[in-house]
Amino acid sequence: MFPSSVEVAIIGAGAAGLGAAHALKKSGLSFIVLEARNRVGGRAYTIQAAPDVIFDVGCGWLHSADRNSFVRIADELNFEINKDLPPWRDRAVGNAFPRDERADFIRSLDDFFDRVEQAARRGRDAEASTCFEPGNRWNPMIDAISTYINGAELDRVSILDFNAYEDTNLNWRVRRGYGALMAAYGATLPVAFNCAVALIDHSAKRVRVETSQGVLTADKVIITVPTNLIAVEAIRFHPALPDKVDAAANLPLGLADKVVLALDEPEALPKEGNLRGATMRTEMGTYHLRPFGQPCVEGFFGGRFARQLEDEGDGAIAAASIDEIASFLGNDIRRMLKPLKESRWAHDPFARGSYSHALPGQSGKRAVLAAPIDGRLFFAGEATSPNFFTTAHGARDSGERAAKEVLLTAPRK
Ligand SMILES: Cc1cc2nc3c(=O)[nH]c(=O)nc-3n(C[C@H](O)[C@H](O)[C@H](O)COP(=O)(O)OP(=O)(O)OC[C@H]3O[C@@H](n4cnc5c(N)ncnc54)[C@H](O)[C@@H]3O)c2cc1C
Repeated sequence: MFPSSVEVAIIGAGAAGLGAAHALKKSGLSFIVLEARNRVGGRAYTIQAAPDVIFDVGCGWLHSADRNSFVRIADELNFEINKDLPPWRDRAVGNAFPRDERADFIRSLDDFFDRVEQAARRGRDAEASTCFEPGNRWNPMIDAISTYINGAELDRVSILDFNAYEDTNLNWRVRRGYGALMAAYGATLPVAFNCAVALIDHSAKRVRVETSQGVLTADKVIITVPTNLIAVEAIRFHPALPDKVDAAANLPLGLADKVVLALDEPEALPKEGNLRGATMRTEMGTYHLRPFGQPCVEGFFGGRFARQLEDEGDGAIAAASIDEIASFLGNDIRRMLKPLKESRWAHDPFARGSYSHALPGQSGKRAVLAAPIDGRLFFAGEATSPNFFTTAHGARDSGERAAKEVLLTAPRK
């Protein structure tokens, strides 16, 4: 049932919107979550890609797991957590990236991260690519890692923002899927589905929210939609909010895409391995072999390369993955690999990208985007998190923060 009036309207049922809604549950305030899709979770979405393959199309890792609020939630909802080390650092498979080359690369990568930290301590912002060691042979691959972490190459990434992220180096997983956990987390909340918000009119005392399901008025609104939608005014504000639009444009969503391939002869590849080449180019995938022992391979692509593949059309990411894996393991592997599903997050109308990064010189924009307006409009979403941006738990915590701001300004019940 779509209400015509609530005390608090929450826009978006991703991690941030669900976090906000849970924090309002006991407040006594009436509220509803308005969601454009027909499901909760947003960029957290688990599918059964095949009878024996569970696949997270969006987030998969509980990053900074010792500080990740979804660990407790998974516990409460009886979702099994897997604490095995991720494969990307130490569990390389095959000869595509020989051991001593890998060790050399990891040293260069760690040195690069140290230089970013030192540059950030000096407090002057610039493109993170200025922290490359000139002439280092691994620079293109370090840039590829940035496309996985930031969704963008380092020439588009702010040093100060990159360094503000708090990585505790503990990365866990949810066996049934991070998206499945999110769906369970949202299951008991009041959500209006297929309800796309087009306009937030805050010119009068009550805020008027125009949606594809009709008009609703609210005392307060929490906005959690991705920055790429605010930046192009896919949701409009009246009166206009140029500072928010500018902040969102300077915190664009980069791009990361995933693909899952069925592996017909699972024993052909080891469980939980990582496959990638010492490619000396940024346009490369990284492959997780048989996650949880499942008969599949997951590929991960980022940045301009992911954009190029998305633009080539559905199936291009799977085709590029199979070609690259065959170049490492030989052509026999081709007949064992079948495309199951690939993401196309840049083409998703309610995301238009994967996760946010600050452009060089713009690291202060996260605080600008997060700031409430007039005690009536509140902002959450991963891009507003000061230290866990890009992540699902950062998004959830930001929703809780916005709900607390609402409660501080609401008359006591
Ligand atoms: C490929 C990929 C891999 C990732 N890997 C990880 C990972 O391993 N670990 C991790 O922590 N994070 C990861 N992330 C990031 C993580 O998924 C996001 O940071 C997080 O889910 C964002 O939550 P959110 O609530 O801020 O935004 P969203 O999840 O995008 O939620 C916003 C919601 O608003 C809705 N919406 C949009 N427009 C409107 C409108 N006009 N009206 C109403 N509703 C609207 C959307 O449909 C959506 O449901 C990954 C993301 C991708 C794409």
